Amino acid sequence: MRYGIAIDSARCMACYNCFMACKDEHCGYSSKYSVAEPHMGQFWMNIVEWERGDRPGNIKVATVPTPCSHCQDPACMKAAKNGAVYKRPDGIVIIDPVKAKGQKEIADSCPIGAIYWNEEEQVAQKCTMCAELLEEGYKVPRCVEACPNQALIFGDLDDPNSEVSKKIAAGKVTQLKGLEGQETNVVHLNIPGIFLAGTVYLPEDEVAIGAKVTLKCESCGKVFETVTNWAGDWEVDNLPKDKKFDITIEMKGYRSVKLSAVTDKDHFVEETILCPIL
Ligand code: SF4
Ligand code: SF4
Repeated sequence: MRYGIAIDSARCMACYNCFMACKDEHCGYSSKYSVAEPHMGQFWMNIVEWERGDRPGNIKVATVPTPCSHCQDPACMKAAKNGAVYKRPDGIVIIDPVKAKGQKEIADSCPIGAIYWNEEEQVAQKCTMCAELLEEGYKVPRCVEACPNQALIFGDLDDPNSEVSKKIAAGKVTQLKGLEGQETNVVHLNIPGIFLAGTVYLPEDEVAIGAKVTLKCESCGKVFETVTNWAGDWEVDNLPKDKKFDITIEMKGYRSVKLSAVTDKDHFVEETILCPIL
C-alpha cells in the first residue's frame, strides 16, 4: 500500500476549496504529525496560478495545486538530523513536530518550497496528507474530499486497478521544477506547456474558416497541425518550451503564408491576411 494523490491541472478551476479544507483541518489543531498551522503565511495546499498569453482575448490561467509531493527519496529527510523527517511505510513523508524543533534547515531543504517555518513554535511544517485522519478511518484527505471537480484523486499507487493509478496511467504526467527525475507520491497531470495562436483573415475583413495551420519545430522536426475555427482563430497548446517553430498557413485558392515563432512564452503570433491566387 502506497498512498498517493493525482492532481489534474486540466480539471482544476481554482475554486480554492482544497486550500480552505486544508486550512480548516490544520489551523488551530495539532496532532502527532504536526503542531497547528498558523492562520497566516503558510500554504500547505498552495494553489500556484499564472497568466498565459500576451494579447487580450487570448489570455488563459494555468492552475497547479501544489502540496508536498511526498517524494520517494525526499531532500527534506536528508537535511533533517535525528530522524526528524521520516517516511511512513504507506509513503507519507512526516516532519516529526518534536524532533524537528529548531531545525530550520529542514524548511529550507524542499526543492518546491512545500515546507514552512513556524517562528513561534520554532518548527518546520507541511502537508501531512491528513495521515492523522486516515488513521481514524477517513477514506481520503480533506483537500480531496473538498474538490468539486475531481481534480484531486486519492488512493493506492501500488494497486494498478485503483482510481488514482488508472488516472495517472491515462494522463500526461508533468514533473515539477526541482523534482525532475524524482518519484513522488503526489503526481501532477496535464500542467500546460506553451501555446501559440493567431487569427487568419481573407481580404475585406472576412475571417478564414478552415485554413490549415502547420507548425514544425526547427530543431526536433516534430509537426503539429490545426485548422482555423469559425472566427478564423487557430491555437496549438502544450508545445515544448524554448523551441523555434516554422508556421505555414494554407487555404485552397489563396497564397500560403510562412511565419515563425519561438515558444519562450505563451504567444499570439499575428493576424494574417491571405491573398487570393489570381
Ligand atoms: S516535496 Fe519537499 S517537503 Fe515534500 S517530501 Fe519532497 S522534499 Fe520533502
Ligand atoms: S478544490 Fe479542486 S478544483 Fe478547486 S482549487 Fe482545489 S484542486 Fe482545483
